[in-house]
Amino acid sequence: SLPAGFTRIKHADYTNSGYDRGHLVRSEERTIDDADNKSTFLLTNILPQRPDLNQGVWYDMEQWCETMCKDSTKELFVIAGGIYTSNSKINNLVAIPDSCFKIVVVLEAGQRLSSITKTTRIEAVIMPNIQGIRADNWQKYKRTVDEIEAATGYDFLNYVRKDIQAVIESKPSIF
Ligand code: MN
Ligand code: MN
Repeated sequence: SLPAGFTRIKHADYTNSGYDRGHLVRSEERTIDDADNKSTFLLTNILPQRPDLNQGVWYDMEQWCETMCKDSTKELFVIAGGIYTSNSKINNLVAIPDSCFKIVVVLEAGQRLSSITKTTRIEAVIMPNIQGIRADNWQKYKRTVDEIEAATGYDFLNYVRKDIQAVIESKPSIF
């Protein structure tokens, strides 16, 4: 469904590149029906991640998210993406992020925007897209949302009231 003229990336573009197809939303996180699940395999949900990131510390945080939902009855609102600073590409085609970020808003099941307060738990990370970090714990890469906003130029959680954003985006997680 990309507009005409857009470059279409294929799975084969990643083959032998030294990068994994790093899924932003995991297949395991979209299981309501077949179409929902298949959407996670679109290349618009995928960016190049080094194996030690994808299979290591990034995966470690994905597992933590899964546990929070399955064992702790939380409902997580997750924003993830790449931070691109060096303009490097696979085959001059697929942009390679220099690091990847994830922002997790931790709510109770069923809670929505109006439940977010100045004490809502936020976990935010920036992880480098490099080898050698496979065995790290995700907590090593905790950052603030403000830092991710500065690195990407986006205003995250922008529907949250400004005075609440100011608090929850600026303080590191204490958990
Ligand atoms: Mn992955
Ligand atoms: Mn914001």
